[in-house]
Amino acid sequence: MFEEENNNAVNDTQFVDETLVCKDCGKEFVFTAGEQAFYAEKGFLNKPKACKACRDAKKNASRAPREYFTAVCADCGGEARITFQPSPDRPVYCSACFEKRKNAQE
Ligand SMILES: [Zn+2]
Ligand SMILES: [Zn+2]
Repeated sequence: MFEEENNNAVNDTQFVDETLVCKDCGKEFVFTAGEQAFYAEKGFLNKPKACKACRDAKKNASRAPREYFTAVCADCGGEARITFQPSPDRPVYCSACFEKRKNAQE
């Protein structure tokens, strides 16, 4: 953890643009006075560790639908959308058949 250094800025109402280095892409980015005011208002004690582009990318990545692979269901022959790369030696089931089999096993 490297958060000890960030404990003195919040009570300072005079914000000044500050250049930080993004931990993700290594580029410098500006933590603007406006953003600092926003952070202080929200009570965030830590400065952003990543630039806006990287933070947005991360936000979008967690929100974006997962990548799907399409395979043929081993049970009904329909289209099975799976979140992992299908391997040839393992049967793949569509979600309906997967549920059916899971319930049948219980
Ligand atoms: Zn970045
Ligand atoms: Zn099926």
